[in-house]
Order: sequence, then structure tokens, then C-alpha cells
Amino acid sequence: MDINLPIYPGRLTIDKVEFCLTCENRVKLHILRLDKIHPVISGNKWYKLKYYMADAINKGFKKILTFGGAYSNHIVAAACAAKEYNINATGIIRGEEPAVYSHTLSDARDYGMELHFISRNEYNSVKRGAETDFSNQNFKEHYLIPEGGYGRKGVMGAAEILQNKDISSYTHIVTAIGTGTTIAGIVKSASPGQKVLGMSVMKNNSALPVEIASLLGDALPDNLQIIQDYHFGGYAKKSQLLLDFMNRFYRLSNIPLDFVYTGKLMFGISELISKGYFPPGSEILAIHTGGLQGNRSLPSGILEF
Ligand SMILES: *Cc1c(COP(=O)(O)O)cnc(C)c1O
Repeated sequence: MDINLPIYPGRLTIDKVEFCLTCENRVKLHILRLDKIHPVISGNKWYKLKYYMADAINKGFKKILTFGGAYSNHIVAAACAAKEYNINATGIIRGEEPAVYSHTLSDARDYGMELHFISRNEYNSVKRGAETDFSNQNFKEHYLIPEGGYGRKGVMGAAEILQNKDISSYTHIVTAIGTGTTIAGIVKSASPGQKVLGMSVMKNNSALPVEIASLLGDALPDNLQIIQDYHFGGYAKKSQLLLDFMNRFYRLSNIPLDFVYTGKLMFGISELISKGYFPPGSEILAIHTGGLQGNRSLPSGILEF
């Protein structure tokens, strides 16, 4: 049985961003709105989950097991996808069980995901979901999906991100990097003449090039560049500068960003544009990888959307 789970391309659009700075520096900036593909399973997470879900269903598993933090886009996406495909889901959550659940966790629970909380140390040794990590536990009947949809199957799904639209005219394709799974898929499917830029949201993640090469199963291609300057202090760290930028960006473009990934991505792109990093005539496609649910962890009123 070959199950081809649908991607949800219906609402996918490419939006133009008309910043003054894009005119002055004579570049075009467009945004691929993966945030619009599904109200919950948003952005790149569905693409990364797709082949894991299909494999789980094909192999007859009744349960999936996956991993994430209390605000994880992946956890809520996996919980919702599992519900849609009628398969049970267990989430291994990093850290102590909180007295009050985050929106993310309560949504995941409402979609029927069973949540297990484990210490940060223990979490770090199991998050990639190696079968052996769970051999002594009660999860033998589960199909394991690594944290964030990391891994080769995630790359296969991410390689379909660029297939929905004609993207041949773009000179640069830019996306945020967490685990590197998404950009590995992007660089696989971009044409060799297109430059692929990734903005890492982690601080000094020196292992990233090696990780991406291993996800690709190949040396890093020449058209891939990893930028490590826009992490704002590290994963999920933020500053007033970033939040102000996100509000300004929304006023200019009507496009909401999240503060963990796409806010940093667009901040980086706009700074690189104003520095003249992109040659005149460049056509930049930025990928909005979604993740807007994460903004619910911010106090209300900070963001104007
Ligand atoms: C998870 C996530 C990423 C990072 O994707 P990787 O494949 O882990 O590099 C980027 N943007 C958003 C919105 C995400 O939720």
C-alpha cells in the first residue's frame, strides 16, 4: 500500500514585499507563505512530517511518538496531523510538567496527544528518537519521529516545498534554520544556479554544516550559505529590536512573523538588503515557514497582530 498524504497547497501564495529598501537597492523580495497551508499543521512542519506519517501508516503502526518543548511548533503539528490521519500520538516533552500548560501543550492534548514530561538531560539523549533509546520503555509499539521532523524523511518532505510554485526566476532562496532539515530539502530541490541562504536561529551552532551535510548524505553544495549573525542571543531569545521589527514588518506588508524563526529570518534579510549584500537585480524568495502559534507565549499587546 502506498499512501500519498496530501500537502495542502490550496492556500499557498507568494506575496510581494514592497520595502523602500528593496527599491533603493534594486532587489525584489517575495515571500512563500507556507504559514497559510493549514491552520494548525503550519509551514515547514507538515512537509517534514509527511513521509514519517506515511511510513508509520504504511507499516501499520497505530501510534507515533515524537519530541519537543512546551512551545514546539512540531508537537502541535504532529498532534493535529495524527488526529487527521486517525493515529494515536505520544509527545515526549522537555522539562518538568508545568502547573499551567502552554497554549501549545493544551492544544496538543486537545488533539488527543498523550504527553510525557522528562528532564532536560534525559530529553537531550532521546530527542532524535533512536530506537535503542526506548528499548526498555513502554514505547515499543510507537513509530518514532525525531524532534522537529529532523532526518532524511524530513528532508524528502522539505524537498517538496518549492514544487508548488514556479520559482525558477529567483536568484536567492532564503529560509530559517533550526535543525537544518528544511534547508537540506530546499537545497536539494533548488537549481544549482540559485543561491540558497539559511539564517540559523541558534547561537554559534558550529556543528550545523556537518549536520546539514549528513542530512544531505553529501558534501555541502557550493550554492548553500549558512548565516549565523541573526540569532538574537540564541534559540527563542528575543529583543525589543526584533519585536519592533516584526511590528513594523507587519504594518508594511500585512504579513505576521513568529519571533523564533521567521522574525529573525526577515530581520536578517532586510539588514543584508540594506548592506548591499544582494547584487542589484536579485530576486529573493524568502520562505515563511510558519510557526505563528509560538507567538502565543508572548504577553499580549507586544505584537500588533
Ligand atoms: C521548525 C521551524 C524551522 C526550522 O526548521 P528546521 O528544519 O529544523 O531547520 C523554521 N521555521 C519555523 C517556523 C519552524 O517552526
